[in-house]
Amino acid sequence: MAEIQNTVILGSGCAGLTAAIYTARAGLKPLVLEGHEPGGQLSITSLVENFPGWPDGIQGPELIDNMKKQAARFGAAYQLAHLVSVDLSVCPFRLTTSSGEIRTHSLIIASGASARWLGLPSEQALIGHGVSSCATCDGFFFRGKEIAVVGGGDSAMEEALFLTRFATKVTLLHRRDAFRASKIMLDRVMAHPNIELRTSTVVEEVLGVDEHEVKGLRLRDVKTGTLSELPISGLFLGIGHEPNAKMFAGQIDLDADGYVRTKDNVFTTHNGEVVEGVYACGDVQDRRYRQAITAAGSGCMAALEAEKFLEEHGH
Ligand code: NAP
Repeated sequence: MAEIQNTVILGSGCAGLTAAIYTARAGLKPLVLEGHEPGGQLSITSLVENFPGWPDGIQGPELIDNMKKQAARFGAAYQLAHLVSVDLSVCPFRLTTSSGEIRTHSLIIASGASARWLGLPSEQALIGHGVSSCATCDGFFFRGKEIAVVGGGDSAMEEALFLTRFATKVTLLHRRDAFRASKIMLDRVMAHPNIELRTSTVVEEVLGVDEHEVKGLRLRDVKTGTLSELPISGLFLGIGHEPNAKMFAGQIDLDADGYVRTKDNVFTTHNGEVVEGVYACGDVQDRRYRQAITAAGSGCMAALEAEKFLEEHGH
């Protein structure tokens, strides 16, 4: 039987790698399962200018690579595997991964949330070249430019309003006439002189793939079928995120949208009771802030709690 791990960290984004640095420095030899999106959302961002300590900014993939090396230096191990199923009812916990079974005394869930994309090939080809799902991360690069935001919920409204700080014009595109967004957010958007709302409109194609930068959008009016082109330099998706926590359903509490419910930021629960030895950090449990630095902060907290738990249980 394979050895029992002290700590398995699920996910290798900012939260998971910070948890890895802390647990590795505590001598716990954490095993990080890198998952299906190694490096998390930072690995698809370009310049990160709001992570403290980098006065000139740092490329997202470089920041992640640095964190990975930092944890490895203290003994963290990495495995390119994703979780297939989990059994938290037995101690040590049993994880079935794409590379076999792992048993562990503690588990840190840092599997993140994946931004929803439209799924167009042209959109996917231009991620990081004018297509983004994070206004806070990338809005700054569109100073003085015209851009578009897709979505009809609060995220899209918030992104559109935020992006008016940089862009000269923001066109908000929504596929229906009715909005999910709260009235107050929608009212703000409608009252903003630099935001134009286009409803019943879908993006058919992002233009600029050959030039490796967004040049515009081909749009379709869903009521009339009319096609049109919108010249813009940036496209922001504000159509929501999917927390990567489905495999925990029934074993820890998730909220209505599938985010892990936590107590005191990092303790997971089952039917309201704390699940000892299982912690969650980063975007899988945070729908509100979703920043690299907040994910890192909660990764640190989860690691400190895991360390305390292992010590108390004599591991
Ligand atoms: P959301 O409320 O689920 O809205 C997603 C929007 O994206 C919907 O308008 C949806 O259109 C659209 N959409 C989804 N898939 C699409 C596709 N493939 N193509 C085109 N459009 C698509 O998600 P959210 O805006 O991220 O909000 C999530 C939760 O966080 C909400 O509870 C929200 O109130 C909250 N939140 C609050 C704030 C705030 O208060 N400041 C900020 C952000 C988020 P349909 O309407 O047609 O389905």
